[in-house]
Amino acid sequence: MNNQQIVNGTKQYLIGNYGRLPVAMVRGSGATLWDADGKEYIDLFAGFGAGGLGHCHRKVVQAIRDQAAELMCVGNLFTWPSQVELAERIVRHSFDSRAFFCHSGAEANEAALKLARLAAGEGRYKIISFHNCFHGRTMGALSLTPEKYQKGFEPMLAGNVKCDYGDLDGVAKAIDAETAGVIVEPIQGEGGVHVPEAAFLQGLRKLCDQHNLTLICDEVWTAPARTGQWFAYQHFGIEPDIMTLGKLAGGGVPVAACMAKPALADKLVPGTHGCTLGGNPVCAAAGAAVFKTIEEDNLLQAAIDKGQHIRQRLADAKLPAVKDIRGHGLMLGIELDPMPENLLTACMDKGLLINVTQGNVVRLAPPLTIVPDVLDKGLDTLIACLR
Ligand code: PLP
Repeated sequence: MNNQQIVNGTKQYLIGNYGRLPVAMVRGSGATLWDADGKEYIDLFAGFGAGGLGHCHRKVVQAIRDQAAELMCVGNLFTWPSQVELAERIVRHSFDSRAFFCHSGAEANEAALKLARLAAGEGRYKIISFHNCFHGRTMGALSLTPEKYQKGFEPMLAGNVKCDYGDLDGVAKAIDAETAGVIVEPIQGEGGVHVPEAAFLQGLRKLCDQHNLTLICDEVWTAPARTGQWFAYQHFGIEPDIMTLGKLAGGGVPVAACMAKPALADKLVPGTHGCTLGGNPVCAAAGAAVFKTIEEDNLLQAAIDKGQHIRQRLADAKLPAVKDIRGHGLMLGIELDPMPENLLTACMDKGLLINVTQGNVVRLAPPLTIVPDVLDKGLDTLIACLR
């Protein structure tokens, strides 16, 4: 089937909830994708960052193959080695915590939300989140997310309180006897790639300690390794009580996790929460392979070095429209003013995939494994299109 036939089939048989580009991807390798008509693209966005090890990474593919041939599904009435390995690798690089596995960032945040309420006890149900944030589309996660995503789905969960990102005083004022917790992205992603002052996250940690609130770091966009640290909270000298993961954690297959400190984790006793296929052997094996590969191939340093290279190339190009470059490692936002019309499609025509958020912020999140000449070729195209 060619592009047109697959696009037509998509329109006929799938719900149209995504604003899709009229292209069907059929093959990927490293940072390169091919569509059904044989056109080649350099991928500097890696499927919202989720394909962070590159398309069809050899070690992830091997882990999936091996596990699929061995055991695929028994349900959480039992346990199995790959989910233990994945949890152990996450804990090794973060904080003393235990994992609840599921399939999406939204689901991981649902688990965090339930746990924060459970830990707070009766009558304490409010969760503070931040304007410009994004935590997912399920009803609980949606309640924590800005109003523009909520239209038509109201009423939201009771007790969702929004503060300005960076405004500690606002948070202090918003806390009352009914507050259970605070959820924050250590670096805002969908909101336009905003890096907060360390003092903001450190202040949140203090406020949560003072008022006995659960601090949840939503690391769905930022981890593992995307920002040059295993987890982005590590840039800011804090430690959350709960951390949620998704996207890159599975290297392209659905792996998400709610990691909770043991005292909190102990509250999710049997019957309080679950996910039939959560942590299933194949996905967990892929996740474990992702963490192992980041360790073995020193991809933290790769994210730092390649992020720096992108910044340097853009600075050298002296593009008048570039007003700001934000982010850490390979999670970058390039703010443009004016925003060129049709930038995304112009790049695609020239075989480059990028993303735009908030109308004027180009987001780059290439695979951590992207090789230098492919990265440079992609940047040549981006710079030419921006000119
Ligand atoms: N949290 C953050 C910070 C996100 O950026 C996203 C999605 O972009 C989510 C949660 C939701 O993840 P998912 O789409 O896997 O449900």
